Amino acid sequence: MSTPVATTCPYCGVGCGVLARVGEDGAVHVAGDSSHDSKVGRLCVKGAALGETVDLQGRLLHPKMRGENGAFHRTSWDEALDRVAQGFRRIVEQHGSDAVALYVSGQLLTEDYYVANKLAKGYLGTANIDTNSRLCMSSAVAGHKRAFGEDVVPGCYEDLEQAELVVLVGSNTAWCHPVLFQRIAQAKEQGAKLVVIDPRFTATCESAHLHLPIKPGTDVWLFNGLLVFLFQHGVMDAEFVDAHTEDLNAALAAAAADAGDPAHVARICGVQQADVLAFYRLFARHRRTVCLFSQGVNQSSSGTDKVNSIINCHLLTGRIGAPGMGPFSITGQPNAMGGREVGGLANMLAAHMELHEPVHREIVQTFWSSPRIASRPGLKAVALFDAMLEGRVKAVWIIGTNPVVSLPDADRAKRALDACELVVCSDIIERTDTNAHAHVLLPALGWGEKDGTVTNSERRISRQRPFLPAPGEARADWRIICDVARRLGFAQGFAFDSPRDIFVEHARLTAFRNHTPGRDGQPAATRLLNLRGLASLNHQEYDAMRPVQWPVHDDGTGTQRLFTDHHFAHADGRARLIATTARLPVHGTDREYPLVLNTGRVRDQWHTMTRTGKSPRLAGHISEPYVDMHPHDALRSGVREGELARVQSSWGAMVARVRHGGGVLPGNVFVPIHWNDQFASDARVGGLVNPVVDPVSGEPEFKHTPVRVEPF
Ligand code: SF4
Repeated sequence: MSTPVATTCPYCGVGCGVLARVGEDGAVHVAGDSSHDSKVGRLCVKGAALGETVDLQGRLLHPKMRGENGAFHRTSWDEALDRVAQGFRRIVEQHGSDAVALYVSGQLLTEDYYVANKLAKGYLGTANIDTNSRLCMSSAVAGHKRAFGEDVVPGCYEDLEQAELVVLVGSNTAWCHPVLFQRIAQAKEQGAKLVVIDPRFTATCESAHLHLPIKPGTDVWLFNGLLVFLFQHGVMDAEFVDAHTEDLNAALAAAAADAGDPAHVARICGVQQADVLAFYRLFARHRRTVCLFSQGVNQSSSGTDKVNSIINCHLLTGRIGAPGMGPFSITGQPNAMGGREVGGLANMLAAHMELHEPVHREIVQTFWSSPRIASRPGLKAVALFDAMLEGRVKAVWIIGTNPVVSLPDADRAKRALDACELVVCSDIIERTDTNAHAHVLLPALGWGEKDGTVTNSERRISRQRPFLPAPGEARADWRIICDVARRLGFAQGFAFDSPRDIFVEHARLTAFRNHTPGRDGQPAATRLLNLRGLASLNHQEYDAMRPVQWPVHDDGTGTQRLFTDHHFAHADGRARLIATTARLPVHGTDREYPLVLNTGRVRDQWHTMTRTGKSPRLAGHISEPYVDMHPHDALRSGVREGELARVQSSWGAMVARVRHGGGVLPGNVFVPIHWNDQFASDARVGGLVNPVVDPVSGEPEFKHTPVRVEPF
């Protein structure tokens, strides 16, 4: 057995530490790492099965190009990289920088993300680089920026153990972030109260003191009602509000306009008034409150307002920046946070700087010495694929993600790719629904082979370390991107020899013309994301780097909790309460489509199953796509439990087996996101999902699509 290698789980945003060892027979054995700073040392069932997912079956091991006969053939790296570079150069020359795009992934390591963003924004001169993280947490990003002035999660996991009240909003934490849920369970054993706000009665609700099964999309009413209730009952930290916030009156007026009366809130939300009041009173009574929210909040046409309606309640009561309290966005992917840090979203620059700020653009371009800098925000995920379909974007490089399965209106994504002149896919798997539309396939390294860093939901940067050799001709994503950049004539900006070189440049950029957040003459570029304590790591230090929460000080120590001094990242140091407007999802049900489709994860699968689909143990939990619906709706729809049914929306259709017992309310159905056409035909739920997005964040409304279910 090899020496254990300390690395990080590649699945959810909890970011558990993993010790991986390779046996004499080549089998990979994993265990939780109790020395990782999550201090837990546990893995959930997905993490524990990682060793079953690293075989080479189905791997893309060599570069491939599509020939004139339409079939892929093996080619050399030189030929494939030349084809990518020549294609991108020709299209930029003929149609301008915005005719090319990158679509990347929260699965990438921070170093991969950094060079992809640098290539697009600093060298190609387009901000058309977006990420699948747009689909899961961009509403939280937008909400953080509006409230705090920067995209920051204020607290840490320990706050969940120190809280008197934990409110889980739109999060099936027990299935989707299991190790974190174990920490919440511990807090509960020590007396903490647990409230779950979710239209479904999930596994998470089983241990809740109070479950509020609100109608999908009504969260803003509930939290605006809470804001008014707290204010009216004097549960307000007036000193904190006066000294450290702005815009209370506007937020209160907006909240009172549509949620001033708990009876009205209860009617709109479809729950008992007594339960609404029970929640409000629990919140009022317990100062140490954490509101942890996830995709049920973010994936909505009012996702950003939902986020701010939650944060508003914390700001009104001053419940932020101290142990056991604060709003807490839990990310879905292992490196959704790291991607945000290096500017992986189309509307951001690296190091949390903003594309729309001329000062920030000048700082980044000066630091990079780049020939250009994108001058306006790029296209967000759904709009990016629309632009491909309309011929405005003609070349796209997709790295580590499967948009033909995961985007809303996913059949449109297929047509968008088919309309492009050049589609390049970097992936670890050869046959995916998206790769079927590519012209060039580039083999990438996977978990266990890759080397770099990720940032989890509590701002903790930790290392993913390799313990397996690179298979076939697969290469690290950062290296592939640098190879293409050099072929495009950008050798100077991409002379990196290792992930350490990239990380150090990223850390130096976070500290470049950045000042310690504080008092004196805050310059416009001051931001909390500052890794100056990591900006001079040598190779050995990078290899040995311990998990650390940013901001990272000069002595290398991190920061467990932000806003302890109640100084926020807006230029005036004050947080903003935001006037949020309650509104229903864009597409309502009707006679043709009478049911509301909600999508989400199951406990033992991950994304589009390219990894977890390999594990028989994980398949033992749920082995096929299903549509969970209330027995009364099944009866009305003419379908029976255990039989196949067709789920149809205005955008597409899929086939799934009917199930009951998943806790859905009458009028709703739930379908998991994982299955795709590689596992079963007509199994992509993304094909049904409406493409409406939140107007601020661009995050799609995955939680609310009108559908009907009919016999297959
Ligand atoms: Fe991995 Fe998340 Fe499970 Fe931890 S809780 S082992 S990070 S999937």
